[in-house]
Amino acid sequence: MKNIVDLFKELISFDTMSDESSSTYPSSASELEFASKLVDILKEEGVNDAYRDEFGLVYAHVDNNKDKTIGLIAHMDTSPALKGGIKNPRIIEKYDGSPIKLNEKYTMDSDEFPFLKEITGDDIIVTDGEHLLGGDDKAGIAIILTFLSYYLKHKDEFNYNLAISFTPDEEIGQGALHFDVKKMNADVAYTLDGGSIYEASYENFNAASATISIYGVGVHPGSAKNIMVNAALLATKFVNLLPKEMVPEKTEGREGFIHLTDIKGDVEEAHLSFILRDHDKDLLEEKKKILKNALNVIQNEYPKAKLELKIHDEYRNMFDYFKEDMSAINLINKAYISSKIKISYDPIRGGTDGATITYLGLPCPNLGVGDFSPHGRFEIVSINQMNTMVEILKELFK
Ligand SMILES: [Zn+2]
Repeated sequence: MKNIVDLFKELISFDTMSDESSSTYPSSASELEFASKLVDILKEEGVNDAYRDEFGLVYAHVDNNKDKTIGLIAHMDTSPALKGGIKNPRIIEKYDGSPIKLNEKYTMDSDEFPFLKEITGDDIIVTDGEHLLGGDDKAGIAIILTFLSYYLKHKDEFNYNLAISFTPDEEIGQGALHFDVKKMNADVAYTLDGGSIYEASYENFNAASATISIYGVGVHPGSAKNIMVNAALLATKFVNLLPKEMVPEKTEGREGFIHLTDIKGDVEEAHLSFILRDHDKDLLEEKKKILKNALNVIQNEYPKAKLELKIHDEYRNMFDYFKEDMSAINLINKAYISSKIKISYDPIRGGTDGATITYLGLPCPNLGVGDFSPHGRFEIVSINQMNTMVEILKELFK
């Protein structure tokens, strides 16, 4: 195996952007090609049980004659926000904390990007200002492959078998769509994805979406008195009945929200789309009730209007699983303590593939990889943090 920096540079030279508008799975042909490349790397390392399935997911197993298996998961696609496939990332050795000039147009400093303080002193990799770096999540893949290489040479140091999966289409919310816990065949798993390695997560939002359709009565405005019911106007009345503080721009931490994502309408009909989010599932139910109550208020006031509310549950907070069984978290704590590194846990204000995988029956918290400000030209990876994560994985498997 190449060293982690050369390996990372090779992985990010592939553009594996996922595509929201695609009707295929995975969403881009480049992901399938990349999946085959990953299988080749695994086989070259001597992992015989490595393959790509019909959906483009890669699975690999290394049996070590142990009772239990830990799985490691990373996603192979990059965000549709900006093109990847960068050929000339720049390495800055022992970054001194000063502004970073990416190219003639773009410079980064720690006022705008406070994480630069956390990685000052590290060797870091930055973009050319034109592409995203792809550390989300190829830093995760590079860490897993580097650990694998060590694991194969030092199997007697470890107390768990190793399972690996690389998944497509995470960035468009489809990463766990075809994930097969039977193929993974592990007792516990971790997604390696996201920011600082000093933070891990086993909490995410409970999520639902809602659509409201309002049908009014349209007549000529000149003779509309006591007849017209203006659907567009009822839509604005509906929005005004919702709590003003319960919106993404006014909430943080574990505070949930009702977020109006789309509104359109005219006199005849109006349509509103919302997403509802809360870490607490009872509070999410309450948010659904707020929408129902607002709908009833409008309906009672305007009996001639027709109102419809549809609510669709999206994903669940994995914490509801972990509060009953903390063993996956205890393993993380043990690994960090023996690495003499402090870990903190952050509630994710979003969803993760790990949450979906947890409810498929494989508990799956998330670990950081040292990738910062992803999904754009300002993405940076810390080589030090990638290397440290490999060391933490060694403790995890002991
Ligand atoms: Zn990611």
